[in-house]
Amino acid sequence: MSKAFDLSGRVAIVTGGNGGIGLGMATGLAQAGAALLIAGRNAAKNAAAVKALAALGAKAASVEADLTGEAACRALVRAALDQFGRLDILVNNAGTNIRKQPQEYTLEEWKTVLDTNLTSAFLCSQAAYPAMLKAGGGKIINIGSMMSIFGAAFAGPYGASKGGMVQLTKSLACAWAKDHIQVNAVLPGWIDTELTRAARRDVPGLHERVLARTPAGRWGGPGDFAGIAVFLASGAADFVSGAAIPVDGGYSSQG
Ligand code: NDP
Repeated sequence: MSKAFDLSGRVAIVTGGNGGIGLGMATGLAQAGAALLIAGRNAAKNAAAVKALAALGAKAASVEADLTGEAACRALVRAALDQFGRLDILVNNAGTNIRKQPQEYTLEEWKTVLDTNLTSAFLCSQAAYPAMLKAGGGKIINIGSMMSIFGAAFAGPYGASKGGMVQLTKSLACAWAKDHIQVNAVLPGWIDTELTRAARRDVPGLHERVLARTPAGRWGGPGDFAGIAVFLASGAADFVSGAAIPVDGGYSSQG
């Protein structure tokens, strides 16, 4: 691998890194040489992911955490420093969705989606900032969605959180460029994970619509996110900041 993409000696946190897109990104980072701390609520999924990352030769550990709360986000960054001594890369990937018509949501449901997808990214970034300053810089990768760009009748809070993710990315990128911290967003198209398996079940015709609408003619997989994670986490992307990069098989380019 070109040295520009080498992550040896770097330490990465991936929230929601125990499966799906998060594990796809963590796998890429591990293959490029980074040590990984992944976080999720499900201890069994965490353990299986750590095992898979360690099998690649990476230093890997997990934290069992519900990142909807401030204390958990701060503790996660502390755990990276305790475990690995530094923090260079933060991937804000933890996410959830509740699919309903807008008039049907309770305030509690709205807050669950916003807190999981957007507030946790803000809090983890805020907690990571001093550690990245100390490391001389850092990389933050926020996971948005096609719903950062488009609307969907069944995704009011989700779309609000993912639109917010792009604007948060731009604000952090502007604020922290002087500290050599680059902040970018990745906007996945339709990717086959636990999250969308539920959507395929709940939304009639979704599977066929995704295939018809995606120029690549297929769903994405977690492995499609390894390369973009390595690029954005590496020195190769030192002058890339505030971008929102679709990884969508052409979905957002097709009118
Ligand atoms: P998954 O359901 O596989 O991943 C979601 C991850 O988030 C899991 O690791 C889950 O772990 C973690 N998570 C959820 N809630 C919390 C919480 N409160 N605290 C800590 N961790 C939490 O789905 P995806 O891989 O698809 O989703 C990953 C990201 O990609 C999300 O932000 C999603 O919105 C986004 N995305 C996905 C798309 C797709 O088509 N799949 C398209 C666009 C964006 P655990 O359950 O153990 O807590």
